[in-house]
Amino acid sequence: MKIGRVTDDTFALLLRVWREQVRAYLPQMAMILGLVVVIAATTSFYPLLIKAAFDAFADPLTAESTGFVRRMERLVSKSIGFEIGVVNAVAVVVVIVTAVKGFSLLAQTVMTNSVVSRIEADMQTALYTHLIRADLAQLQRENPASLTQRFTTDFTFVKEALTRLINIAVRDVLTALALVGAMFWIDWQMTLIVMLVAPIVAHPIGKIGRKLRRMATSQQEQTGLMASLVTESLQGARAAKTDTLEPYLERRAAAAFETIRSLKMKAANARGRLDPLLEVGGGMAVAGVLAAIGVRITSGGSTVGDFTGYVSALLLAAQPMRSLGNLNAIVQEAGASLKRYYALLDEKPQIVDPPDGQPLRVGAGEVAFQNLRFRYRDDQRALEGIDLVAEGGRTTALVGRSGSGKSTLLALVPRLYDPTEGRIEIDGQDLRGLTLASLRAQIGVVSQDVVLFDDTVRANIAFGRPGASDEEIVAAAKAAAAHDFIMAMPDGYDSSVGERGQKLSGGERQRIAIARAILKDAPILLLDEATSALDAESERLVQQALARLMKNRTTLVIAHRLSTVREADLIVVMEEGRIVETGSHDVLLARDGAYARLHRLQVIAD
Ligand code: ADP
Ligand code: MG
Repeated sequence: MKIGRVTDDTFALLLRVWREQVRAYLPQMAMILGLVVVIAATTSFYPLLIKAAFDAFADPLTAESTGFVRRMERLVSKSIGFEIGVVNAVAVVVVIVTAVKGFSLLAQTVMTNSVVSRIEADMQTALYTHLIRADLAQLQRENPASLTQRFTTDFTFVKEALTRLINIAVRDVLTALALVGAMFWIDWQMTLIVMLVAPIVAHPIGKIGRKLRRMATSQQEQTGLMASLVTESLQGARAAKTDTLEPYLERRAAAAFETIRSLKMKAANARGRLDPLLEVGGGMAVAGVLAAIGVRITSGGSTVGDFTGYVSALLLAAQPMRSLGNLNAIVQEAGASLKRYYALLDEKPQIVDPPDGQPLRVGAGEVAFQNLRFRYRDDQRALEGIDLVAEGGRTTALVGRSGSGKSTLLALVPRLYDPTEGRIEIDGQDLRGLTLASLRAQIGVVSQDVVLFDDTVRANIAFGRPGASDEEIVAAAKAAAAHDFIMAMPDGYDSSVGERGQKLSGGERQRIAIARAILKDAPILLLDEATSALDAESERLVQQALARLMKNRTTLVIAHRLSTVREADLIVVMEEGRIVETGSHDVLLARDGAYARLHRLQVIAD
């Protein structure tokens, strides 16, 4: 199986987010951009206004500035109908400018949050869809709790980064550029000097960003480990208490918590170094401007208006500049999350419909395993040299010690895994040439670990055949010896089974699964017979239900009960992934080989 290889380059990852997620929201993004332009323009207008006002007060004779303020005054006066004077006119314009900026800021924030939260939901949906359709092998390689975490923590980083990218990379950059424009307008020589000094501050900021990215990666991995550790301990609460495992669990958890604490602290400290750095850099810039412009005012090259206007532009620019400094850190942290996200998403399922997949056509229902070999991992052998024909309409019993490969063999029939070598055919059709849906529609499964979903009893049976009528569901439940206990539940067929079917006993869950298989009425049946969880009474009921189900179907059953084994048409004895004996009960017993040993060891018992 190929593991998705995803670039380390945060920029490339963000480009991919743009291509695959943001593009769907282009109209909204355009509106946001429009609002941002208004915000940047109003912000940069501010220092110009201040400069003009100061110049007007300080030196009423400076023609250019006075002209600007006078024009403003005339405009305001005309629109309200009387002379208000220069000071009042500036005040009115200030109110208008700030009101426009405030409104745009609000609208832009609301739209940004709306777009970002939609992108987040889109990405979560895509990941869920991918996982729910992923190969079993891929899912088993991942830890369920850590997968769950991908939907929570990882997206917090991504969401934060996207919001900031819009707010900072777009809004603040534009605002800063507009302010720099205003600064050039007021004093271009000064501004050139400021621009030359800026990279000296920028360098250490870049270094901190890269460091944070590395820390974010290990922090997210550790959080995943911690999540699985906590989930595992809580799910195993019963064992933890009866076996007094608490001290061990506490020690293990404490170590994990400590690792995360120290990682988080290091990241927080690195992040904390940014603000002081930017503060000092900003201070040095203001001091430099103060000194330089001071000299020029005394020499008559600048006005007081120039000075106040310039310093206010510089101070206004400080905030977006500072955010820009932080941006890299936040984007780098999101880069770590995005990499994990796309690595998971890019892992393509191997078990998919073939390009020209044919629907499975079942005649007799013969299942043939040919020269089959399977391994879960490279260093392990689960099945080796399996040649077996399960005849149509007959029962083939698989027996063997635990770990001998029985469940694995059954898992290959509905293509939960594909054989590493060799092939499986149903009525002469290679499974890998068939559509998955048609294959799985013809196979009924009742396994040891029955999976029920938190829904009603009725719904859980109906999964066998979506669209089945109530009568059919009840008939199936009756045939599975489940009707009586279902009717004894508070709401009958509408009773909830609880999370994972917790409200039902093992035997009841199994009879629901049998009812489901009866309803499905598939010609090929796979049974993983579990007797250990059942009391004698439920076992008798389950057995009767199974016997009804198996009639006239090709059944492959993992058997522990002597009764099942005796009635099987063929007994297959497995050992360490190989078939070591086949035959009928009497013949195999008489041979006094592997089968007879299993019988003596009570692996097959009454
Ligand atoms: P049985 O059903 O006869 O008890 P299994 O088919 O479950 O045996 O297991 C056969 C071998 O494959 C065992 O060595 C087991 O450890 C291994 N195995 C089973 N399931 C997995 C899995 N999901 N991943 C890796 N190894 C597995
Ligand atoms: Mg098994």
